Amino acid sequence: MNRRRFVKTSLIAALANPIHAMTKSNKKKIKKSKKGHIAVIGAGAFGGWTAYHLLKKGYSVTLLDVFGPGNSRASSGGDSRVIRGIYGEDKIYVDLVARSFKLWKRYQKKWRQSLYFPTGALWFFQIDDTYAQKSLPIVNEAGLKSEQLSKAEVKKRYPQINLSGLKSFYYEHEAGYLPARHCCQVVLENFVKKGGDYKQLAVTPGKIINNELTELILSDGSKLQADSYVFACGPWLSKIFPEALKNIIKPTRQEVFFFGTPYGDSSLFESNMPVWVDFGERLWYGIPGADWRGFKVADDTRGIKFDPTTGDRTASKSGISSARKYLAKRFPIMKDAPLLESRVCQYENSPDGHYIIDRHPEAENTWVLGGGSGHGFKLGPALGEFVADRVTGKEEIDSFFALSRFNKNLKKQTQFNSFLPGSG
Ligand SMILES: Cc1cc2nc3c(=O)[nH]c(=O)nc-3n(C[C@H](O)[C@H](O)[C@H](O)COP(=O)(O)OP(=O)(O)OC[C@H]3O[C@@H](n4cnc5c(N)ncnc54)[C@H](O)[C@@H]3O)c2cc1C
Repeated sequence: MNRRRFVKTSLIAALANPIHAMTKSNKKKIKKSKKGHIAVIGAGAFGGWTAYHLLKKGYSVTLLDVFGPGNSRASSGGDSRVIRGIYGEDKIYVDLVARSFKLWKRYQKKWRQSLYFPTGALWFFQIDDTYAQKSLPIVNEAGLKSEQLSKAEVKKRYPQINLSGLKSFYYEHEAGYLPARHCCQVVLENFVKKGGDYKQLAVTPGKIINNELTELILSDGSKLQADSYVFACGPWLSKIFPEALKNIIKPTRQEVFFFGTPYGDSSLFESNMPVWVDFGERLWYGIPGADWRGFKVADDTRGIKFDPTTGDRTASKSGISSARKYLAKRFPIMKDAPLLESRVCQYENSPDGHYIIDRHPEAENTWVLGGGSGHGFKLGPALGEFVADRVTGKEEIDSFFALSRFNKNLKKQTQFNSFLPGSG
């Protein structure tokens, strides 16, 4: 991939066709379909891709978002997200990732935008590596090349990493990162170009009568009626349906840091260093140099409860200090590195760390979609397709993602494990 060419093209496209201008001028082009009208609420990774695939299937689709696609409060709002195939024993995710790799590649070519950067991913384990061991055959069967590496091999390839305390190593060839916020905006641009209707408004669900949601109430005072509704509201999902979803989604505060690499030293640039995941007492992970922002590092441990609308997004002193300590140990050239930027985002955790894709328990025509739990972004394109097939009745609801799994022992399951397999 010629990164420069794509970046340049995307810049020209953005300047020539900003989203707000497109949404204003697109009113005449909005696709009306005899198949039906579906409203999708939330233009993040889940809602944006779902809306796009529903439109592709020939439905009229209205996509609504209170703050915009990949906005700074949304879980999809970061600079970069990891895409990787190792997913423990969860074949359902590996298959979705394999499909997502294909779709990220297809759409970046089709839309002439940089959406996927294949840096590879290096996993290192200080502890038991069953998670990767069990995944390897599933990942390779899905066609995603991955292998175990010896310590000597890793030392040779990556002398910039301090390998002390590390027991085993895995390398995924196709893994890499996705420029998250940019991806959400590109999906929306192409949704609108294809005839989708986008409204930047807050949505409140109307009344449920006879097992059907009757309408949406919008923040400009208007109402919107559709045949079906898909609520893909990320960390806000439980707030929208407090009765039906009973706080199933619990947002937690997560801090992300971008540190400056030493002047003139390129050993931690993405050309020399893949995406990495360090499985130890805590799980640290990082993305080198995406969008030239610096060396990204984050602790995957679930933080404290967080309100996505009102929560303050200033990084904590303790978070900065533990990131510095970790970096100095694992990447010695980063000792005393300057902090360039920080972000506070939130994971939208479901009780078991798995997604929720199901009908609303009291409204047949309404779907709830969420629970990305720190690992939802990469699957956006395949998940949108998967959801569109269910919403339009082509496929059955999958019990793995169904709400009924929480009926038993909900209290016990909501105790967070700081190590939910699948994060990042
Ligand atoms: C720090 C961090 C790192 C992560 N790392 C990774 C990673 O490396 N790889 C990975 O795959 N995943 C990762 N994730 C997880 C991933 O980003 C999320 O799972 C995914 O982005 C969730 O997307 P979503 O569409 O469900 O939610 P969101 O992106 O939050 O979208 C929900 C949208 O709904 C809108 N909305 C909410 N309520 C309303 C309303 N009433 N009316 C109208 N609009 C409304 C919001 O404005 C928002 O835009 C990470 C998450 C975080 C926070």
